Amino acid sequence: MLELKNVDAFYGLGHILHGLSLSVSEGEVVALLGRNGAGKTTTLRSITGLTPPKRGQVLYKGADIAGLRPHVITRKGIAMVPETRDIFSYLTVKENLAIAERRGSRWHMDSVLERFPGLKTRLGHKGGELSGGEQEMLAIARALLTGPELLLLDEPSQGLAPLVVSAVMDTIRELKSQRVSMLLVEQNAEMALQLADRVYVIDHGTVVFEGAPAQLRADANITATYLGVG
Ligand code: ATP
Repeated sequence: MLELKNVDAFYGLGHILHGLSLSVSEGEVVALLGRNGAGKTTTLRSITGLTPPKRGQVLYKGADIAGLRPHVITRKGIAMVPETRDIFSYLTVKENLAIAERRGSRWHMDSVLERFPGLKTRLGHKGGELSGGEQEMLAIARALLTGPELLLLDEPSQGLAPLVVSAVMDTIRELKSQRVSMLLVEQNAEMALQLADRVYVIDHGTVVFEGAPAQLRADANITATYLGVG
């Protein structure tokens, strides 16, 4: 479904991604791990068109989308839940959702609220009044309303209490059961390993490990060097 081939990306003169290659198959949950500054967020931005690659290909369903504008890429079925969540704090929950709603999407306002009952009771509240967990749910709900087939999640567990992290994990599992493909960036390696079918570890903008979660757990060298575990 998604294949990055030898992607190089820059911020100005800063060369961040160096020949990065990875893939996500249909219905698969793929985790992208690595230390701070390894280039995880930049990888997601190179897929969504926010930081277009200078070299390499971003193949989505076989067509190269590298260099297309972000809104065009969204319309093709790729949605991102950013690390910063980007909720409009002065708009209500309902307004935040309504902005994203798109005709033809498998998800609409009613089905999303059924899935996120916590948001239903908060519809009239301003985005800025929500807890971190509610904001994450709102960010995921909003992404679903655009009708994605591929969801990019940037550190969904960030700043959340363990119980709320479990709720986010349940949501990811449920979306997986509905065949939404996901690329999951996480600092919380344990969470990611529980959810993922396959894992990439990147460092300095290049892949240093690819394999199944069990293979990564067994590799003390990689976990100690790149994940600060062990
Ligand atoms: P984190 O967990 O800290 O978000 P990350 O793996 O997602 O880490 P990126 O955000 O992709 O890392 O950042 C990769 C590198 O690019 C870092 O060295 C960072 O300082 C740099 N960088 C990120 N954003 C910008 C920017 N807007 N301008 C210049 N450099 C940037």
